[in-house]
Amino acid sequence: MTQKLLAGSFQLMKSLNRSLILNKIRTEGPISRAEIAKQTKLTPPTVSNIVKELIDSDIVIESNQGESRGGRKPTMLIINAKNFFVIGIDVSPTSIYSVITNLNAGIIDSVFIDIIHPVTNESLLSLLSNSVKQLLNQNKQINHEHILGIGVAMHGIVDIENGIAIYAPGLKLRNIPIKEHLESEFNMTVKIENDANSMALGEAWFGNGYDIGDFVCVNVGQGIGAGIIINGKLLHGNEFLSGEIGHMTIDIDGPKCSCGNYGCLEALAAGPYIAERAKKQLVMGEESMLIEMTDNNLDQLTGELINQAALQGDQFCIKLLKQTGKYLGIGLSNLIHIVNPSCIIMGGGVTKSGDILLDSIKDTISQRGLTDQAKATQVMLTKLGDQAAVIGAVCLMLVELFFTESPHKNIL
Ligand SMILES: [Zn+2]
Repeated sequence: MTQKLLAGSFQLMKSLNRSLILNKIRTEGPISRAEIAKQTKLTPPTVSNIVKELIDSDIVIESNQGESRGGRKPTMLIINAKNFFVIGIDVSPTSIYSVITNLNAGIIDSVFIDIIHPVTNESLLSLLSNSVKQLLNQNKQINHEHILGIGVAMHGIVDIENGIAIYAPGLKLRNIPIKEHLESEFNMTVKIENDANSMALGEAWFGNGYDIGDFVCVNVGQGIGAGIIINGKLLHGNEFLSGEIGHMTIDIDGPKCSCGNYGCLEALAAGPYIAERAKKQLVMGEESMLIEMTDNNLDQLTGELINQAALQGDQFCIKLLKQTGKYLGIGLSNLIHIVNPSCIIMGGGVTKSGDILLDSIKDTISQRGLTDQAKATQVMLTKLGDQAAVIGAVCLMLVELFFTESPHKNIL
């Protein structure tokens, strides 16, 4: 893969040995040159030469001296994580959340922009540019040469090779050339990934998926999607469609989905559809604190309010979320039987009801799993919370820095 030269940002010079050494320092540092040579089986002169190059480019620094059994103490090496930066952007159907982080994905600053509908490809691209400009303006102390690039976690179906958002149903947009636009505007390397896949990547690097080879990260918010990791690699499928579990049919007689089909998981368990179901039942005379919370205007009803009411003990909302958990449990049982993950990590606004939803999901999986192991598949909440997708976007650039193969081939 030829790396396009982008003058303004840190040069992601790649060679197998360079990445190997850099990643060794990241995972094992502080570490000595001798230990790197021993562990990577590279010759000491090769290690010395590459380490010198890494120190010259400031990405690696010498740290305190290590232990020695007699003789001179070896000089230890660490990644200069606090002096290099990545921009991450999470694009949902309603907002653009951008962050600038160090190489440990520690957030230094963020910008949040609401998306006002309707949008066009051009207006969305200009919102993306504005959010990056604002972030750079707010952080003038940061040397642009030390920004590795921009990672984008994008709602919908994404062509990761060409950096194009092929279809963003929540924005009603198609074929948005995000990578091309941001690269030419900011002269930085840009990588794009679907948002649920980004969440999975974030959890794999810094969250509950750390060191787990096979797991699934499920985002349940305005829509539903999954990032599937098998043998430490994100599954993309033939045309970037894998993980679209929101459009798995759960009930052929169910409500109409945004995709045009009936009874999709999304049409039963995504935030706006839960609110729609609540509204219909309340109109029929069910009692709930939601009526007071919305000032008797049920058009104000949202998934968020339902979570709040449930957490305050509202029986109607608890029942509604348990029912939602059952639908999700059915969908996830199907997924378990296809992918057989060791765990399922849940994120997104709907999961903020916590155990009310999670217990119902677990009960359903334990009823429907084919084997004892399938029934006992772990289901847990994301460790990174609302930051999971944006941290995942940052990880897209970390993959670029620390691994030589194409992105996602080795994420751990
Ligand atoms: Zn659908």
